[in-house]
Amino acid sequence: YFLEEAFQSGNTALIAGEDARHIEKVMRMQIGDRVIAVSAGEAFECEIISLGSDAVTVRKSGGALPGNEMPVQVTIAAGLPKGDKLDLIVQKGTELGMHALIPVAAERSIVRWDKQKSEKKIGRLQKIAKEAAEQSHRSVVPEIGGMLDLEGLIARSAEYDLLLMADEESAKDRSGRPIAGLMENVYHGQKVLAVFGPEGGISREEAEKLRRAGFIPASLGPRILRAETAPLYALAAISSEIEGK
Ligand code: SAM
Repeated sequence: YFLEEAFQSGNTALIAGEDARHIEKVMRMQIGDRVIAVSAGEAFECEIISLGSDAVTVRKSGGALPGNEMPVQVTIAAGLPKGDKLDLIVQKGTELGMHALIPVAAERSIVRWDKQKSEKKIGRLQKIAKEAAEQSHRSVVPEIGGMLDLEGLIARSAEYDLLLMADEESAKDRSGRPIAGLMENVYHGQKVLAVFGPEGGISREEAEKLRRAGFIPASLGPRILRAETAPLYALAAISSEIEGK
């Protein structure tokens, strides 16, 4: 469970709201049972010392547990796909170690979010990320950023060490063979921003703008992956290469 407040003196903390209801009503936990509570990116085994459906108090029963965060922070900038495909990217991406997600209003995105829809969608995606992070025993809930257009994304790119664009078109040679692999430039400790197109892909104009802004074309292999498969493949490939074995 992710704590909204830090541990108090005496190493106790309060779990409130939906999480408290989950502990009491769904898990039917008792005083003395153990849960993992995460505060400021660190996970601790805790004992339940008081129980109620609005608030549960826990006390640390040991030191910080070993973390399982990827040693590379991968932010996925996903061209807005149709339907609930972003839900899938967020849920599975969180399991695979994604650091953050930025929805991008791409030229070929068929759906558009207005302000109201955007707030609703981002709130829902943030909830999916939190549940998936708990499921995967992560100590960080991936942040779901506000929707950006390509210019907005490029303006944020200085915050990262490595900029990648998954683009099957610009990452192949004249005979159509993939040239620029995903992993060639990825190293421990980097903050990576990786852009993916929606169903219709990244337009040539967008690819050119991204390239000029320093995004390196990366191939995800010889097959064309769906918009929701591509970022998940990339996360799995980076994890396997960097954390493998
Ligand atoms: N442009 C394509 C088309 O309409 O035929 C397909 C786009 S693909 C469904 C969606 C996105 O996934 C692409 O924009 C790219 O970011 C990523 N992608 C899928 N397969 C890829 C591959 N083999 N190499 C690099 N990127 C890929």
